[in-house]
Amino acid sequence: MFEYAPAPESRSVVSLDSSYGLFIDGAFDPAREGGTFKTVNPASEEVLAEVASAGPEDVDRAVAAARRAFGQWSALPGSERAKYLFRIARIIQERSRELAVLESLDNGKPIRESRDVDLPLVAAHFFYYAGWADKLAYAGFGPDPRPIGVAGQVIPWNFPLLMLAWKIAPALATGNTVVLKPAETTPLSALFFADVCRQAELPPGVVNIVTGAGDTGAYLVAHPDVDKVAFTGSTEVGREIARTVAGTGKRLSLELGGKAANIVFDDAPIDQAVEGIVNGIFFNQGHVCCAGSRLLVQESVAQELLESLKRRMSTLRLGDPLDKNTDIGAINSAAQLARITELTEIGGQEGAERWSPACELPDRGFWFAPTIFTGVTQAHRIAREEIFGPVLSVLTFRTPAEAIEKANNTPYGLSAGVWTEKGSQILAVADKLRAGVVWANTFNKFDPASPFGGYKESGYGREGGRHGLEAYLA
Ligand code: NAD
Ligand code: MG
Repeated sequence: MFEYAPAPESRSVVSLDSSYGLFIDGAFDPAREGGTFKTVNPASEEVLAEVASAGPEDVDRAVAAARRAFGQWSALPGSERAKYLFRIARIIQERSRELAVLESLDNGKPIRESRDVDLPLVAAHFFYYAGWADKLAYAGFGPDPRPIGVAGQVIPWNFPLLMLAWKIAPALATGNTVVLKPAETTPLSALFFADVCRQAELPPGVVNIVTGAGDTGAYLVAHPDVDKVAFTGSTEVGREIARTVAGTGKRLSLELGGKAANIVFDDAPIDQAVEGIVNGIFFNQGHVCCAGSRLLVQESVAQELLESLKRRMSTLRLGDPLDKNTDIGAINSAAQLARITELTEIGGQEGAERWSPACELPDRGFWFAPTIFTGVTQAHRIAREEIFGPVLSVLTFRTPAEAIEKANNTPYGLSAGVWTEKGSQILAVADKLRAGVVWANTFNKFDPASPFGGYKESGYGREGGRHGLEAYLA
């Protein structure tokens, strides 16, 4: 293994305020009730800033601002709305270095990922939906599709700015106004985005950002003047939101968890499959709803593949997220670390065999070594539940039919991967997998033009692509 000298990205490209207010009606404003909370850098536990926590009255002000802005915004010709979205996309590109550092600081993800994956995808998403804004009549939803109204959007902490883009870009392109609540451990890039909106001279009230914890999210989705609710996060909270929204006439889209199968057939090129497995489960510390968290490998190549995988895992570098050589950053929060730790302990107790490469964890912050479990059966909790961390469960199969049955044996259905040399095998297997996205000889590839979403407990509705417009059209 090579020795790498430290190659830190400069954190001084971002200037942080010591405290942040809510972004309502085009201005930052302290919470009138609800107080404040702190957001930390999970790699060091250093407090980054104090952030306003929105109470019911604050959420009410944000929704009222979005309602006032809706009339004018929705009446603009699509080509005018597009100009704002193009402008936002360009400002994000111009400020992407700043934003990438901020995202890594607040979330713990490696700078290589925030710089090379998150930020380019965020900008691409705004460019893509900017392109739709004046073409809605040709999107397949009738000659004069109308916006729904005020969208209340609640997002998680794993891809803070990218999930914001997935929610806000299609909503604005179609003429809706929004109130968005970022996750309580990662509010800073959304507040930075508020500043981007001001820089783009977006009319006040079109985008409002309310920070706070789950209760702030609950006020938002229950607010009577919200017409559309969009949520990404845990299945548990998704269920609760579905109950709140039921019978109110509000439109709802949910993007929940996953337990994706990554299926490797005996004819797959082993080295490429190993790269895909590593990318599938260790990308973003495994904090990925579509992570390839169940490896299904054909028995005849299992041993060879596992040896190769372990060798590759021994070269992964864990540590400072701002170091450009880092592959695995910090776990997002103490709570998430506790959840990963608990589920992996259960994995051991249930009889699966645990392995991690030699890996030194920093003293401060929240860390978890990349881990695989072999000897996993379908009944094990680590094969059924979303761990949302750098933990891979390995199962084997003998025939394609067995692979498909095992892959589909999950309450989720968000994504899957297939590795084989044969195109016919890819098509035959993909056709039988109950998953919203199936990757062939690759994994975790995203494109704004491609719809994303789940079956079963992974949620409903699609984000991205032409399909993603539908969630925001009446
Ligand atoms: P969560 O579902 O609790 O949080 C997601 C967002 O919902 C946050 O903004 C949170 O403040 C908000 N929220 C919480 N309770 C709410 C409520 N009652 N009403 C409205 N909004 C509410 O997720 P978590 O606790 O951060 O993570 C728990 C588990 O969820 C993870 O271990 C993982 O398995 C899963 N998860 C999935 C995704 C995904 O992208 N699908 C993202 C994050 C977490
Ligand atoms: Mg944080």
